[in-house]
Amino acid sequence: MTGLGGFVFPGIQTRVVFGRGTLASVGEELLALGHESALVLSTPHQLNQAEAVAGHLGKAAAGLFTQAAMHTPVDVTESAIEAFRKSGATCVVGIGGGSTVGLAKAIATRTGADQIVIPTTYAGSEMTDILGETTDGEKTTRRDASIRPEVVIYDVDLTLSLPVDMTVTSALNAIAHGIEGLYAADANPITDMMALDAMRAFKDALPDVVRDMNDAEARSKVLYGAWLCSTALGYVSMALHHKLCHVLGGSFGLPHADTHAIMLPHTAGFNAVAVPDKLAPVAEIFGGSVGGGLWDFAKAHGAPLRLADLGFSADDLDRAAEIATRNPYDNPRAFDRSDIRDLLEAAWEGTRPDN
Ligand code: NAD
Repeated sequence: MTGLGGFVFPGIQTRVVFGRGTLASVGEELLALGHESALVLSTPHQLNQAEAVAGHLGKAAAGLFTQAAMHTPVDVTESAIEAFRKSGATCVVGIGGGSTVGLAKAIATRTGADQIVIPTTYAGSEMTDILGETTDGEKTTRRDASIRPEVVIYDVDLTLSLPVDMTVTSALNAIAHGIEGLYAADANPITDMMALDAMRAFKDALPDVVRDMNDAEARSKVLYGAWLCSTALGYVSMALHHKLCHVLGGSFGLPHADTHAIMLPHTAGFNAVAVPDKLAPVAEIFGGSVGGGLWDFAKAHGAPLRLADLGFSADDLDRAAEIATRNPYDNPRAFDRSDIRDLLEAAWEGTRPDN
């Protein structure tokens, strides 16, 4: 934090239950929210966890919808809403990563349903009022109060099954939210504090999780970091990093967490030149320069480093730079299309940033 000008802190609007075995509290949370039944949501891959939720809900489980998919396709949402209406439920319970949380949000904003979400990755959608959806391959993002979940249950035990490679990229995805939060035009001292404490938690605990994915204490610290970063993301605006990842995911089909992991050292290093004081603590936490330290941290934990390895072609660099600079948006450092092309090229090659 670099001095106290004026700021607005909107308060945190979501109830959070955090710990081990907290999944068992889902029935109690549903009742406390004033609902008698809920539709349970997941991806097909997490059917077992959805069934475990239904088991805890007992008679309050009105059914399962297990077709959540990456980037929240609107046709899937429409089928889910049909299932929701048929079930007679008034609440949805989503268990999974950002894809399932996205589906819960998409149902809630269209039907007025309340949401309880149970995140199992570190992507961090759960605390935000942001929803990205795709129709015919076009991804659009919006913010609205009706999108934000009412209750979030973090159960460390559910994250033990997250494979190590996804753990690392998902953690870098979370760190990206924290870093963009630090230089957001609407940042405040509370979100700054959360973002930096989160980065310390990731720096401390990620090596232990990579060594032993069942280390519950380390998993707990990492999930705590994810909660903090998600909260920061939920109350401030994002800038260049998110814009570039959105373009790479939306227009070129690159996978969400891997793209964030690869882009982060480059976008953070690029912006560090404009806001050295705001990002100095990041360099202190990770060592070296801002971008260089993050790149070293990513490499040490086996994260992908090159867009080329995700199938992104050098022939697409010009088009991606053009799409990313088509509309203006807030960023601490001014840029033009050639700056963005250079940044993307460095991420394509996977070079270590100097800044
Ligand atoms: P995801 O939800 O698609 O999960 C990836 C895969 O991992 C899925 O098959 C899932 O079932 C599986 N998985 C999840 N948790 C697991 C666990 N504990 N053990 C084993 N397998 C598990 O991926 P994600 O990275 O969490 O989310 C990406 C999506 O979230 C993107 O669509 C992105 O746009 C969105 N997102 C939105 C926001 C927001 O605020 N709106 C923030 C972050 C991410």
